Amino acid sequence: MGQEKFITEQHRKTRSFFRFLGPLLLIVGGAMMLVAFIDFFTLQGFEEPKYFWLFFVAIPLLFLGFILSGLGFGGFIAKYQSREYAPVAKDTFNYLAKETTSGVKEISNALQLESASTDNFACPHCKQQNTVNAKFCNECGEKIGRICSSCKQLSSNDANFCDECVTSLT
Ligand SMILES: [Zn+2]
Ligand SMILES: [Zn+2]
Repeated sequence: MGQEKFITEQHRKTRSFFRFLGPLLLIVGGAMMLVAFIDFFTLQGFEEPKYFWLFFVAIPLLFLGFILSGLGFGGFIAKYQSREYAPVAKDTFNYLAKETTSGVKEISNALQLESASTDNFACPHCKQQNTVNAKFCNECGEKIGRICSSCKQLSSNDANFCDECVTSLT
């Protein structure tokens, strides 16, 4: 984490350095080019061009300036673009996540409904639907569980064996 932050910080510093150096090289290179041009076109007679060599310095400087500017500002543009596209990507992700979640919910709801419908147990006294493991009716309070013939312990109505003495309830 710290290492990553360091790299980002270093990268940011390098980029701002490029942003500074790139245009600087372009300016210096451009100025040298201008001096060389002026010198070349203002030659008197057979006078040797004194500053013509500046051309050969200016060209690599301009070239380097373009590259550094591209690196410095290119990163900025890419960052700006990613920032522009990030919410779209985020929305798409959220949409997909939401769809997946609601899909999963629907499936689990369907499963729950199905299991609930098979697990329901009607009270023999009032016909109220109770869960299969209910021992007392939630409507009339009657015992709806299975009463052990051996120990009279009340077990849930889906129990096959007594909770207490393991006597068969079926
Ligand atoms: Zn009941
Ligand atoms: Zn029992």
